Amino acid sequence: MSQDPHELWTQCLLSIEQRVRPISFNTWFRPTRARRFDAETLVLEVPTSFIADYVETNYLGTIQKAVQEVVALAPQITFIVADRESPQPRASSKPETASPSYRPPGETKTTHTSVTENARPEEINPAESSEKVEDSPTSLPFSSLNTSYTFETFVVGEGSRFAHAAARDVARSPGQTQFNPLVIYGGVGLGKTHLLQAIGHYALSQGTAKKVTYVPSEKFLSDFIEAIGTRTQGEFRRRYRSADILLVDDIQFFIQGEHTQTEFFHTFNALHQDGKLIAMTCDSPPDQLEGMEERLISRFQWGLVTRIGPPDLETRIAILRQKAEISGIHLPEDVATFLGNLINSNIRELEGALTHLMAFCSVNRLELNVESARQIVQERIPSQNSQLSIEAIQQQVAEHFGLTVNLLIGKTRKKEVVAARQISMYLAKQLTQNPLKKIGLHFGNRDHSTVIHAIQTVEKKSKSDPAYAKEIETLLESIHQRHSPS
Ligand code: ADP
Ligand code: MG
Repeated sequence: MSQDPHELWTQCLLSIEQRVRPISFNTWFRPTRARRFDAETLVLEVPTSFIADYVETNYLGTIQKAVQEVVALAPQITFIVADRESPQPRASSKPETASPSYRPPGETKTTHTSVTENARPEEINPAESSEKVEDSPTSLPFSSLNTSYTFETFVVGEGSRFAHAAARDVARSPGQTQFNPLVIYGGVGLGKTHLLQAIGHYALSQGTAKKVTYVPSEKFLSDFIEAIGTRTQGEFRRRYRSADILLVDDIQFFIQGEHTQTEFFHTFNALHQDGKLIAMTCDSPPDQLEGMEERLISRFQWGLVTRIGPPDLETRIAILRQKAEISGIHLPEDVATFLGNLINSNIRELEGALTHLMAFCSVNRLELNVESARQIVQERIPSQNSQLSIEAIQQQVAEHFGLTVNLLIGKTRKKEVVAARQISMYLAKQLTQNPLKKIGLHFGNRDHSTVIHAIQTVEKKSKSDPAYAKEIETLLESIHQRHSPS
Protein backbone atom coordinates (compact mmCIF):
# COMPACT_ATOMS: atom_id res chain seq x y z
CA MET A 1 0.00 0.00 0.00
CA SER A 2 1.70 3.15 -1.10
CA GLN A 3 -0.92 5.61 -0.01
CA ASP A 4 -0.30 8.22 2.57
CA PRO A 5 -1.35 7.00 6.06
CA HIS A 6 -2.91 10.34 6.72
CA GLU A 7 -5.10 10.17 3.65
CA LEU A 8 -6.25 6.65 4.36
CA TRP A 9 -7.03 7.45 7.93
CA THR A 10 -8.98 10.52 6.90
CA GLN A 11 -11.17 8.27 4.79
CA CYS A 12 -11.65 5.94 7.73
CA LEU A 13 -12.57 8.90 9.89
CA LEU A 14 -15.29 9.83 7.44
CA SER A 15 -16.73 6.38 7.85
CA ILE A 16 -16.37 6.45 11.63
CA GLU A 17 -18.11 9.79 11.72
CA GLN A 18 -21.20 8.05 10.35
CA ARG A 19 -21.14 5.49 13.12
CA VAL A 20 -20.68 7.52 16.27
CA ARG A 21 -22.35 10.53 17.71
CA PRO A 22 -20.84 13.92 16.85
CA ILE A 23 -19.77 14.71 20.37
CA SER A 24 -18.01 11.37 20.70
CA PHE A 25 -16.39 11.81 17.34
CA ASN A 26 -15.04 15.20 18.32
CA THR A 27 -13.81 13.99 21.66
CA TRP A 28 -12.24 10.69 20.72
CA PHE A 29 -11.51 10.70 17.01
CA ARG A 30 -10.86 14.20 15.86
CA PRO A 31 -7.55 14.38 17.71
CA THR A 32 -6.21 11.12 16.22
CA ARG A 33 -3.45 10.92 13.58
CA ALA A 34 -2.25 7.89 11.64
CA ARG A 35 1.50 7.41 11.94
CA ARG A 36 1.64 4.22 9.98
CA PHE A 37 -1.01 2.49 7.95
CA ASP A 38 -0.32 -0.66 6.02
CA ALA A 39 -1.56 -4.21 5.72
CA GLU A 40 0.00 -5.25 9.02
CA THR A 41 -0.28 -2.25 11.22
CA LEU A 42 -2.27 0.84 11.82
CA VAL A 43 -0.52 3.07 14.33
CA LEU A 44 -2.73 5.80 15.69
CA GLU A 45 -1.33 8.74 17.54
CA VAL A 46 -3.58 10.24 20.18
CA PRO A 47 -3.02 13.18 22.53
CA THR A 48 -3.19 11.33 25.85
CA SER A 49 -2.86 7.82 27.22
CA PHE A 50 -6.32 8.21 28.63
CA ILE A 51 -7.73 8.65 25.14
CA ALA A 52 -5.69 5.69 23.95
CA ASP A 53 -7.25 3.50 26.62
CA TYR A 54 -10.71 4.80 26.07
CA VAL A 55 -10.68 4.42 22.31
CA GLU A 56 -9.06 1.04 22.52
CA THR A 57 -11.63 -0.21 24.97
CA ASN A 58 -14.69 1.28 23.43
CA TYR A 59 -14.07 1.79 19.76
CA LEU A 60 -11.69 -0.86 18.55
CA GLY A 61 -14.45 -2.66 16.68
CA THR A 62 -15.70 0.58 15.17
CA ILE A 63 -12.22 1.32 13.86
CA GLN A 64 -11.77 -2.19 12.53
CA LYS A 65 -15.02 -1.98 10.63
CA ALA A 66 -14.16 1.37 9.12
CA VAL A 67 -10.72 0.15 8.07
CA GLN A 68 -12.21 -2.97 6.57
CA GLU A 69 -14.67 -0.85 4.66
CA VAL A 70 -12.13 1.62 3.33
CA VAL A 71 -9.07 -0.52 2.59
CA ALA A 72 -10.44 -4.06 2.91
CA LEU A 73 -7.69 -4.96 5.34
CA ALA A 74 -7.46 -5.96 8.96
CA PRO A 75 -4.24 -4.51 10.26
CA GLN A 76 -3.28 -4.73 13.89
CA ILE A 77 -4.30 -1.48 15.51
CA THR A 78 -1.96 0.10 18.01
CA PHE A 79 -1.89 3.43 19.76
CA ILE A 80 0.89 5.80 20.58
CA VAL A 81 0.65 8.91 22.64
CA ALA A 82 1.90 12.22 21.28
CA ASP A 83 5.07 13.50 22.91
CA ARG A 84 3.69 16.62 24.41
CA GLU A 85 2.50 14.95 27.57
CA SER A 86 4.22 15.69 30.84
CA PRO A 87 7.07 13.38 31.80
CA GLN A 88 5.75 10.64 34.03
CA PRO A 89 5.86 6.94 33.46
CA ARG A 90 2.60 5.54 32.33
CA ALA A 91 0.90 3.00 34.51
CA SER A 92 -0.76 0.47 32.31
CA SER A 93 -4.28 0.03 33.52
CA LYS A 94 -5.31 -2.79 31.30
CA PRO A 95 -3.78 -6.18 31.55
CA GLU A 96 -5.20 -7.64 28.38
CA THR A 97 -7.01 -6.52 25.32
CA ALA A 98 -7.71 -8.00 21.95
CA SER A 99 -5.10 -5.86 20.33
CA PRO A 100 -2.25 -5.09 22.67
CA SER A 101 -1.35 -1.50 22.20
CA TYR A 102 2.16 -0.57 21.40
CA ARG A 103 3.52 2.02 23.69
CA PRO A 104 7.00 3.30 23.11
CA PRO A 105 9.31 3.39 26.11
CA GLY A 106 9.50 7.14 26.28
CA GLU A 107 5.79 7.43 26.45
CA THR A 108 4.33 9.68 29.04
CA LYS A 109 1.04 10.82 30.33
CA THR A 110 -0.91 13.90 31.21
CA THR A 111 -3.10 15.02 34.03
CA HIS A 112 -5.43 12.26 32.96
CA THR A 113 -3.13 9.83 34.66
CA SER A 114 -5.26 9.21 37.64
CA VAL A 115 -8.42 9.22 35.63
CA THR A 116 -7.09 6.20 33.87
CA GLU A 117 -6.13 4.50 37.03
CA ASN A 118 -9.22 5.35 38.91
CA ALA A 119 -11.97 4.80 36.46
CA ARG A 120 -10.89 1.79 34.51
CA PRO A 121 -11.64 2.31 30.87
CA GLU A 122 -13.74 -0.80 30.59
CA GLU A 123 -16.04 0.65 33.17
CA ILE A 124 -16.17 4.18 32.07
CA ASN A 125 -19.25 4.22 30.01
CA PRO A 126 -21.42 1.17 29.91
CA ALA A 127 -24.29 2.97 28.25
CA GLU A 128 -22.15 4.19 25.45
CA SER A 129 -20.30 0.92 25.18
CA SER A 130 -23.40 -1.12 24.76
CA GLU A 131 -24.51 1.13 22.00
CA LYS A 132 -21.37 1.39 20.04
CA VAL A 133 -18.90 -1.25 20.98
CA GLU A 134 -19.16 -3.35 17.94
CA ASP A 135 -16.30 -5.49 19.00
CA SER A 136 -16.64 -7.45 22.15
CA PRO A 137 -13.26 -8.97 22.68
CA THR A 138 -14.09 -9.46 26.32
CA SER A 139 -10.87 -10.94 27.48
CA LEU A 140 -11.36 -13.41 30.28
CA PRO A 141 -11.97 -11.69 33.58
CA PHE A 142 -8.65 -11.32 35.29
CA SER A 143 -8.58 -11.92 38.96
CA SER A 144 -6.16 -9.48 40.39
CA LEU A 145 -7.38 -6.78 42.71
CA ASN A 146 -7.96 -3.34 41.27
CA THR A 147 -5.65 -1.08 43.27
CA SER A 148 -8.20 1.68 43.55
CA TYR A 149 -10.92 -0.46 45.11
CA THR A 150 -10.03 0.13 48.74
CA PHE A 151 -11.97 1.17 51.83
CA GLU A 152 -10.20 4.51 51.70
CA THR A 153 -11.68 5.35 48.33
CA PHE A 154 -15.14 4.07 49.16
CA VAL A 155 -17.53 6.88 50.04
CA VAL A 156 -20.00 5.62 52.60
CA GLY A 157 -23.60 6.73 52.16
CA GLU A 158 -27.01 5.72 53.47
CA GLY A 159 -27.39 2.93 50.95
CA SER A 160 -24.04 1.37 51.66
CA ARG A 161 -23.45 2.00 55.35
CA PHE A 162 -24.27 -1.46 56.56
CA ALA A 163 -22.59 -3.38 53.75
CA HIS A 164 -19.49 -1.26 54.28
CA ALA A 165 -19.44 -1.89 58.02
CA ALA A 166 -19.87 -5.62 57.49
CA ALA A 167 -17.10 -5.70 54.90
CA ARG A 168 -14.74 -3.88 57.26
CA ASP A 169 -15.60 -6.29 60.03
CA VAL A 170 -14.84 -9.40 58.07
CA ALA A 171 -11.67 -7.85 56.68
CA ARG A 172 -10.44 -7.20 60.22
CA SER A 173 -10.94 -10.77 61.35
CA PRO A 174 -11.63 -12.96 58.39
CA GLY A 175 -13.48 -16.14 59.22
CA GLN A 176 -13.65 -15.18 62.88
CA THR A 177 -16.92 -13.29 62.82
CA GLN A 178 -20.52 -14.39 62.51
CA PHE A 179 -20.46 -12.99 59.02
CA ASN A 180 -19.18 -16.01 57.19
CA PRO A 181 -20.07 -16.13 54.43
CA LEU A 182 -20.75 -12.49 53.69
CA VAL A 183 -23.04 -11.84 50.75
CA ILE A 184 -23.42 -8.30 49.43
CA TYR A 185 -26.18 -7.91 46.90
CA GLY A 186 -27.58 -5.00 44.90
CA GLY A 187 -27.97 -3.43 41.47
CA VAL A 188 -25.25 -2.72 38.94
CA GLY A 189 -22.62 -0.10 39.50
CA LEU A 190 -23.39 0.39 43.17
CA GLY A 191 -20.00 -0.60 44.54
CA LYS A 192 -20.29 -4.34 45.21
CA THR A 193 -17.07 -5.27 43.46
CA HIS A 194 -15.36 -2.28 45.03
CA LEU A 195 -16.31 -3.38 48.56
CA LEU A 196 -15.48 -7.01 47.88
CA GLN A 197 -12.01 -6.16 46.70
CA ALA A 198 -11.54 -3.69 49.54
CA ILE A 199 -11.82 -6.65 51.90
CA GLY A 200 -8.91 -8.27 50.09
CA HIS A 201 -6.76 -5.14 50.09
CA TYR A 202 -7.37 -4.52 53.75
CA ALA A 203 -6.62 -8.09 54.80
CA LEU A 204 -3.40 -8.17 52.80
CA SER A 205 -2.18 -4.79 53.93
CA GLN A 206 -3.06 -5.35 57.59
CA GLY A 207 -1.86 -8.92 57.55
CA THR A 208 -5.15 -10.44 58.66
CA ALA A 209 -4.84 -12.93 55.78
CA LYS A 210 -1.99 -14.23 53.69
CA LYS A 211 -3.69 -15.49 50.63
CA VAL A 212 -6.63 -13.70 49.08
CA THR A 213 -8.28 -15.11 45.99
CA TYR A 214 -10.60 -12.86 44.07
CA VAL A 215 -12.59 -14.45 41.30
CA PRO A 216 -15.55 -13.38 39.20
CA SER A 217 -17.89 -16.35 39.19
CA GLU A 218 -17.61 -16.68 35.40
CA LYS A 219 -13.90 -17.19 35.84
CA PHE A 220 -14.44 -19.87 38.43
CA LEU A 221 -16.81 -21.48 35.98
CA SER A 222 -14.43 -21.29 33.02
CA ASP A 223 -11.46 -22.41 35.11
CA PHE A 224 -13.44 -25.39 36.21
CA ILE A 225 -14.48 -26.32 32.69
CA GLU A 226 -10.89 -26.00 31.61
CA ALA A 227 -9.74 -28.17 34.49
CA ILE A 228 -12.12 -30.89 33.40
CA GLY A 229 -10.90 -30.62 29.82
CA THR A 230 -7.28 -30.88 30.82
CA ARG A 231 -7.94 -33.32 33.66
CA THR A 232 -6.43 -30.98 36.19
CA GLN A 233 -9.26 -30.87 38.69
CA GLY A 234 -6.81 -31.63 41.47
CA GLU A 235 -4.81 -28.57 40.66
CA PHE A 236 -8.01 -26.50 40.37
CA ARG A 237 -9.12 -27.60 43.84
CA ARG A 238 -5.76 -26.93 45.41
CA ARG A 239 -5.78 -23.46 43.92
CA TYR A 240 -9.20 -22.47 45.17
CA ARG A 241 -9.07 -24.25 48.49
CA SER A 242 -5.77 -22.78 49.60
CA ALA A 243 -7.16 -19.28 50.04
CA ASP A 244 -7.53 -17.62 53.43
CA ILE A 245 -10.12 -15.40 51.87
CA LEU A 246 -12.11 -16.33 48.81
CA LEU A 247 -13.88 -13.42 47.17
CA VAL A 248 -16.40 -14.47 44.56
CA ASP A 249 -17.94 -11.74 42.46
CA ASP A 250 -21.39 -11.95 40.88
CA ILE A 251 -22.44 -15.39 42.02
CA GLN A 252 -25.66 -15.07 40.01
CA PHE A 253 -23.68 -16.45 37.07
CA PHE A 254 -23.31 -19.77 38.83
CA ILE A 255 -26.86 -20.57 37.84
CA GLN A 256 -25.53 -21.27 34.36
CA GLY A 257 -23.54 -24.28 35.43
CA GLU A 258 -24.87 -27.23 37.35
CA HIS A 259 -21.52 -28.94 37.77
CA THR A 260 -19.91 -25.71 38.70
CA GLN A 261 -22.44 -25.30 41.48
CA THR A 262 -21.52 -28.70 42.84
CA GLU A 263 -17.84 -27.83 42.65
CA PHE A 264 -18.42 -24.50 44.32
CA PHE A 265 -20.46 -26.21 47.01
CA HIS A 266 -17.46 -28.36 47.88
CA THR A 267 -15.04 -25.46 47.67
CA PHE A 268 -17.29 -23.53 50.01
CA ASN A 269 -17.52 -26.37 52.51
CA ALA A 270 -13.79 -26.98 52.53
CA LEU A 271 -12.99 -23.35 53.19
CA HIS A 272 -15.76 -22.78 55.67
CA GLN A 273 -14.75 -25.81 57.70
CA ASP A 274 -11.24 -24.45 57.91
CA GLY A 275 -12.54 -21.16 59.22
CA LYS A 276 -11.63 -19.32 56.03
CA LEU A 277 -13.67 -16.37 54.90
CA ILE A 278 -15.91 -16.52 51.87
CA ALA A 279 -17.34 -13.21 50.69
CA MET A 280 -19.55 -12.92 47.66
CA THR A 281 -21.57 -10.44 45.66
CA CYS A 282 -24.78 -11.01 43.80
CA ASP A 283 -27.17 -8.93 41.74
CA SER A 284 -30.19 -10.05 43.78
CA PRO A 285 -30.90 -11.66 47.15
CA PRO A 286 -29.42 -15.18 46.86
CA ASP A 287 -32.71 -16.87 47.76
CA GLN A 288 -34.23 -15.34 44.66
CA LEU A 289 -31.70 -16.92 42.33
CA GLU A 290 -33.69 -19.27 40.22
CA GLY A 291 -31.63 -22.23 39.15
CA MET A 292 -29.33 -22.07 42.17
CA GLU A 293 -29.20 -25.25 44.22
CA GLU A 294 -31.09 -25.06 47.49
CA ARG A 295 -28.16 -26.35 49.50
CA LEU A 296 -26.00 -23.51 48.17
CA ILE A 297 -28.64 -20.91 48.86
CA SER A 298 -28.98 -22.14 52.40
CA ARG A 299 -25.21 -21.96 52.89
CA PHE A 300 -25.15 -18.41 51.56
CA GLN A 301 -27.50 -17.57 54.39
CA TRP A 302 -25.37 -19.01 57.13
CA GLY A 303 -23.58 -15.76 57.60
CA LEU A 304 -24.76 -12.32 56.63
CA VAL A 305 -26.69 -11.31 53.55
CA THR A 306 -26.72 -7.56 53.16
CA ARG A 307 -27.99 -5.19 50.53
CA ILE A 308 -26.18 -2.25 49.02
CA GLY A 309 -28.61 0.41 47.86
CA PRO A 310 -28.35 3.37 45.51
CA PRO A 311 -26.49 6.42 46.79
CA ASP A 312 -28.40 9.52 47.79
CA LEU A 313 -27.64 12.91 46.31
CA GLU A 314 -25.06 13.94 48.91
CA THR A 315 -23.21 10.69 48.46
CA ARG A 316 -23.23 11.08 44.71
CA ILE A 317 -21.78 14.54 45.00
CA ALA A 318 -19.18 13.33 47.50
CA ILE A 319 -18.17 10.55 45.13
CA LEU A 320 -17.81 13.00 42.25
CA ARG A 321 -15.70 15.29 44.40
CA GLN A 322 -13.47 12.46 45.43
CA LYS A 323 -13.01 11.18 41.89
CA ALA A 324 -12.12 14.66 40.69
CA GLU A 325 -9.70 15.15 43.55
CA ILE A 326 -7.96 11.87 42.83
CA SER A 327 -7.65 12.99 39.24
CA GLY A 328 -6.18 16.28 40.36
CA ILE A 329 -8.98 18.20 38.75
CA HIS A 330 -10.96 21.05 40.20
CA LEU A 331 -14.64 20.26 40.03
CA PRO A 332 -16.78 23.35 40.58
CA GLU A 333 -19.61 22.95 43.08
CA ASP A 334 -22.33 23.67 40.60
CA VAL A 335 -21.03 21.07 38.18
CA ALA A 336 -20.95 18.43 40.92
CA THR A 337 -24.49 19.32 41.93
CA PHE A 338 -25.63 19.26 38.35
CA LEU A 339 -24.17 15.85 37.57
CA GLY A 340 -25.17 14.41 40.92
CA ASN A 341 -28.72 15.53 40.37
CA LEU A 342 -29.04 14.22 36.90
CA ILE A 343 -27.26 10.92 37.10
CA ASN A 344 -28.91 9.01 39.85
CA SER A 345 -28.93 5.53 38.43
CA ASN A 346 -25.54 4.16 39.30
CA ILE A 347 -22.09 5.14 40.38
CA ARG A 348 -20.34 3.68 37.40
CA GLU A 349 -22.41 5.89 35.15
CA LEU A 350 -21.71 8.85 37.42
CA GLU A 351 -17.98 8.23 37.21
CA GLY A 352 -18.26 7.68 33.50
CA ALA A 353 -19.95 11.02 33.01
CA LEU A 354 -17.26 12.79 35.02
CA THR A 355 -14.46 11.09 33.10
CA HIS A 356 -16.15 11.87 29.83
CA LEU A 357 -16.57 15.48 30.90
CA MET A 358 -12.94 15.83 31.92
CA ALA A 359 -11.73 14.37 28.64
CA PHE A 360 -14.14 16.44 26.63
CA CYS A 361 -13.09 19.68 28.30
CA SER A 362 -9.43 18.87 28.07
CA VAL A 363 -9.50 17.87 24.41
CA ASN A 364 -11.66 20.78 23.39
CA ARG A 365 -9.88 23.16 25.74
CA LEU A 366 -13.09 24.09 27.43
CA GLU A 367 -13.71 25.14 30.96
CA LEU A 368 -15.24 22.52 33.19
CA ASN A 369 -18.61 24.12 33.78
CA VAL A 370 -22.30 23.34 33.85
CA GLU A 371 -22.65 24.14 30.17
CA SER A 372 -20.10 21.51 29.14
CA ALA A 373 -21.58 19.09 31.64
CA ARG A 374 -24.98 19.57 30.10
CA GLN A 375 -23.65 18.66 26.67
CA ILE A 376 -22.05 15.51 27.97
CA VAL A 377 -25.09 14.45 29.89
CA GLN A 378 -27.41 15.00 26.97
CA GLU A 379 -25.14 12.76 24.96
CA ARG A 380 -24.97 10.11 27.60
CA ILE A 381 -28.56 9.88 28.67
CA PRO A 382 -29.75 8.25 25.46
CA SER A 383 -32.72 9.67 23.64
CA GLN A 384 -34.72 8.70 26.69
CA ASN A 385 -35.93 12.24 27.06
CA SER A 386 -35.99 13.28 23.49
CA GLN A 387 -39.75 13.14 23.19
CA LEU A 388 -40.20 14.71 26.57
CA SER A 389 -42.02 17.97 26.03
CA ILE A 390 -42.01 21.12 28.08
CA GLU A 391 -45.75 20.59 28.54
CA ALA A 392 -45.22 17.17 30.04
CA ILE A 393 -42.77 18.61 32.51
CA GLN A 394 -45.13 21.45 33.42
CA GLN A 395 -47.92 18.94 33.89
CA GLN A 396 -45.90 16.81 36.24
CA VAL A 397 -44.46 19.68 38.26
CA ALA A 398 -47.93 21.19 38.60
CA GLU A 399 -49.27 17.86 39.86
CA HIS A 400 -46.39 17.57 42.27
CA PHE A 401 -47.14 20.94 43.84
CA GLY A 402 -50.90 20.59 43.63
CA LEU A 403 -51.24 23.41 41.09
CA THR A 404 -52.77 23.66 37.65
CA VAL A 405 -50.63 24.18 34.58
CA ASN A 406 -52.47 27.40 33.86
CA LEU A 407 -51.50 28.75 37.21
CA LEU A 408 -47.95 27.56 36.73
CA ILE A 409 -47.45 29.39 33.48
CA GLY A 410 -49.76 32.29 34.31
CA LYS A 411 -49.03 35.72 35.70
CA THR A 412 -49.40 35.14 39.41
CA ARG A 413 -46.48 36.22 41.62
CA LYS A 414 -47.53 34.08 44.57
CA LYS A 415 -44.44 32.71 46.22
CA GLU A 416 -45.24 28.99 45.93
CA VAL A 417 -46.28 29.34 42.32
CA VAL A 418 -43.15 31.28 41.41
CA ALA A 419 -41.02 28.63 43.07
CA ALA A 420 -42.78 25.82 41.17
CA ARG A 421 -42.50 27.80 37.96
CA GLN A 422 -38.77 28.22 38.42
CA ILE A 423 -38.36 24.54 39.07
CA SER A 424 -40.30 23.70 35.91
CA MET A 425 -38.09 26.01 33.87
CA TYR A 426 -35.01 24.46 35.37
CA LEU A 427 -36.24 20.95 34.60
CA ALA A 428 -37.24 21.96 31.08
CA LYS A 429 -33.70 23.10 30.51
CA GLN A 430 -32.19 19.96 32.03
CA LEU A 431 -34.45 17.47 30.39
CA THR A 432 -35.12 18.83 26.94
CA GLN A 433 -33.00 20.24 24.16
CA ASN A 434 -35.02 23.41 23.88
CA PRO A 435 -33.29 26.78 23.79
CA LEU A 436 -34.00 29.20 26.60
CA LYS A 437 -36.02 31.39 24.32
CA LYS A 438 -38.39 28.57 23.49
CA ILE A 439 -38.72 27.60 27.12
CA GLY A 440 -39.68 31.18 27.93
CA LEU A 441 -42.24 31.05 25.17
CA HIS A 442 -43.87 27.99 26.71
CA PHE A 443 -44.09 29.76 30.04
CA GLY A 444 -46.55 32.44 29.07
CA ASN A 445 -44.15 34.08 26.61
CA ARG A 446 -41.62 35.07 29.23
CA ASP A 447 -38.26 36.47 28.31
CA HIS A 448 -35.23 34.18 28.14
CA SER A 449 -33.56 36.20 30.87
CA THR A 450 -36.38 35.16 33.18
CA VAL A 451 -35.56 31.56 32.38
CA ILE A 452 -31.89 32.12 33.11
CA HIS A 453 -32.78 33.73 36.40
CA ALA A 454 -35.02 30.77 37.28
CA ILE A 455 -32.29 28.24 36.51
CA GLN A 456 -29.76 30.17 38.56
CA THR A 457 -32.15 30.46 41.46
CA VAL A 458 -32.80 26.73 41.48
CA GLU A 459 -29.12 25.85 41.19
CA LYS A 460 -28.22 28.21 44.00
CA LYS A 461 -30.93 26.93 46.27
CA SER A 462 -30.06 23.30 45.53
CA LYS A 463 -26.60 23.95 46.84
CA SER A 464 -27.61 25.60 50.06
CA ASP A 465 -30.67 23.55 50.89
CA PRO A 466 -30.36 19.75 50.85
CA ALA A 467 -34.11 19.23 51.35
CA TYR A 468 -34.81 21.38 48.33
CA ALA A 469 -32.17 19.55 46.30
CA LYS A 470 -33.75 16.31 47.33
CA GLU A 471 -37.15 17.46 46.18
CA ILE A 472 -35.79 18.41 42.78
CA GLU A 473 -34.13 15.06 42.59
CA THR A 474 -37.35 13.23 43.39
CA LEU A 475 -39.15 15.20 40.75
CA LEU A 476 -36.48 14.49 38.20
CA GLU A 477 -36.63 10.82 38.98
CA SER A 478 -40.38 10.64 38.68
CA ILE A 479 -40.31 12.51 35.37
CA HIS A 480 -37.64 10.10 34.14
CA GLN A 481 -39.72 7.20 35.27
CA ARG A 482 -42.93 8.31 33.72
CA HIS A 483 -41.35 9.17 30.40
CA SER A 484 -38.64 6.63 29.91
CA PRO A 485 -39.60 4.00 27.39
CA SER A 486 -40.06 0.68 29.12
P1 ADP B 1 -20.92 -3.16 41.08
O1 ADP B 1 -19.92 -4.25 41.33
O2 ADP B 1 -21.93 -3.05 42.17
O3 ADP B 1 -21.56 -3.25 39.73
P2 ADP B 1 -18.60 -1.48 41.21
O4 ADP B 1 -18.06 -1.90 42.51
O5 ADP B 1 -17.90 -2.02 40.01
O6 ADP B 1 -20.16 -1.78 41.10
O7 ADP B 1 -18.63 0.10 41.18
C1 ADP B 1 -18.70 0.84 39.98
C2 ADP B 1 -17.76 2.01 40.05
O8 ADP B 1 -18.22 2.94 41.00
C3 ADP B 1 -16.37 1.62 40.49
O9 ADP B 1 -15.42 2.36 39.77
C4 ADP B 1 -16.33 1.98 41.94
O10 ADP B 1 -15.04 2.34 42.37
C5 ADP B 1 -17.26 3.16 42.01
N1 ADP B 1 -17.96 3.22 43.28
C6 ADP B 1 -19.05 2.50 43.62
N2 ADP B 1 -19.46 2.80 44.86
C7 ADP B 1 -18.61 3.73 45.32
C8 ADP B 1 -18.51 4.46 46.55
N3 ADP B 1 -19.40 4.29 47.53
N4 ADP B 1 -17.51 5.34 46.68
C9 ADP B 1 -16.63 5.54 45.68
N5 ADP B 1 -16.68 4.91 44.50
C10 ADP B 1 -17.65 4.01 44.31
MG1 MG C 1 -19.35 -5.83 40.07
